[in-house]
Amino acid sequence: MHEKCGVVGIALRDREVARPLYYSLYALQHRGQEAAGIATHDGFQQYDHTDTGLVGDAFDEADIDDLTGTRGVGHVRYPTSGGVGTCCAQPFSVSFKSGSLAVSHNGNLVNTEALRDTLAEDGHTFTTDADTEVITHELARNLLSAAPIQAIAETMEQIHGSYSLTVLHDETVYGIRDPKGNRPLVLGELDDGYVLASESAAVETLDGEVIRDVAPGEVIRLATDGTEYTSHQLATAESAAHCFFEYVYFARPDSVIDGRRVYEVRRDLGARLWEQSGIDTDVVMPVPDSGRAFAAGYAGAAQDEGADVEFAEGLMKNRYVGRTFIMPTQEQRERAVRLKLNPIKHTVAGRSVTIVDDSIVRGTTSHQLVDIVRDAGAEAVHIRIGAPPIAAPCYLGIDMPTREELIAADMSVDEIEDAIGADSLAYLTAADIARVLDFDSTELCLGCVSGAYPYDIEGEKSDRETLYPPVGVEDPPAEGD
Ligand code: AMP
Repeated sequence: MHEKCGVVGIALRDREVARPLYYSLYALQHRGQEAAGIATHDGFQQYDHTDTGLVGDAFDEADIDDLTGTRGVGHVRYPTSGGVGTCCAQPFSVSFKSGSLAVSHNGNLVNTEALRDTLAEDGHTFTTDADTEVITHELARNLLSAAPIQAIAETMEQIHGSYSLTVLHDETVYGIRDPKGNRPLVLGELDDGYVLASESAAVETLDGEVIRDVAPGEVIRLATDGTEYTSHQLATAESAAHCFFEYVYFARPDSVIDGRRVYEVRRDLGARLWEQSGIDTDVVMPVPDSGRAFAAGYAGAAQDEGADVEFAEGLMKNRYVGRTFIMPTQEQRERAVRLKLNPIKHTVAGRSVTIVDDSIVRGTTSHQLVDIVRDAGAEAVHIRIGAPPIAAPCYLGIDMPTREELIAADMSVDEIEDAIGADSLAYLTAADIARVLDFDSTELCLGCVSGAYPYDIEGEKSDRETLYPPVGVEDPPAEGD
């Protein structure tokens, strides 16, 4: 099960924690709209509330009032194609011999089945097929025989894959980031406590200050009385594997992840796109909202070079249409794009247009947009994409379709250009991404681009053996080399 989610954990000195948790879940709503949940502890017992839907729908005043205590964890869950329901809502809670546990997870384990089998042999029973339940049971088992930090270290040795976790064990909150730092997790300070959250925007929403990112393999323990935190570096990996797609699409533009400002990254990627494949047109316009920062960077770089190009909003988004991505049939997805995006005719009629977006996945959005903008009278339609072609699935927490559905899985850029009907199409390369992010390409997870993954995944290639650095990631040698 692919879990692209948001997590939070807060410990306060002497203020009830439910409301700050609720607000921070609002700040993380873009990371998951299927379900939301909070677990708190008041020193005596744990309280839980989870429900389906948006944060605003999942809780009412009475639910928040019932969540008593000054520390707790929360979760927003991303929609996956099947299995909508409260069964997999998080935090995932259990009570066991030595206390209570509530676990919020963002990421995806790659050894869930093997671990579940081992735990089942030891008598653990499971109520869902979610990897989070496996993590919770593994941790509970280790807590029976070891002190918490030791039990977490033992759990981290067993669970493989991507995980940013916030855990409430009895009355103590922990934040845990996987040894490759695949998913983000940040530590912040409030006037009267500490917060751990998937993104810095959640800390700022609470009027807090970001202290720093949780390091890959690090565990942060928030003191129960909210007065301090302690750091435990429990695991190291030979290299990080930060998900580049967080920067390109998933995270909020106002967040800072691993020291990189997401909005600036997107602008710089847009500028790079102009450098690499800029084309003179009358107008540059973003796909709202995903392409906005890229288009601003692209148009800005073009204008800096003296190009006579207008930067305009030429597509209007209907905010009340849900994400097209999760529509089950292709026809529904196409209809949804048309409902969602409408061109401003006088911006495009009789003009050559460059449309900038962050990514092409199935190709539905760009195909539809080319048609829509041509129908509105555009003379030429060029597409520029601020990421490399997405050619392989994600096993590590981003909800991506299978290879059969990914347009770049078996088509070249020229073929995709034909398929979507654009006058021209250009992407960035993985090397562009690494350069703009200022990471070595080996520190990034580029599995969905290269088809080679930084974790061992059955039936897939590893980028750590034959493909180190991953194929296609380095710049090609200059001519004459
Ligand atoms: P597609 O129409 O299938 O080519 O998808 C591309 C559009 O979906 C772009 O506008 C992206 O911003 C957006 N997108 C990319 N990845 C995802 C994802 N994992 N979930 C939802 N939307 C996405």
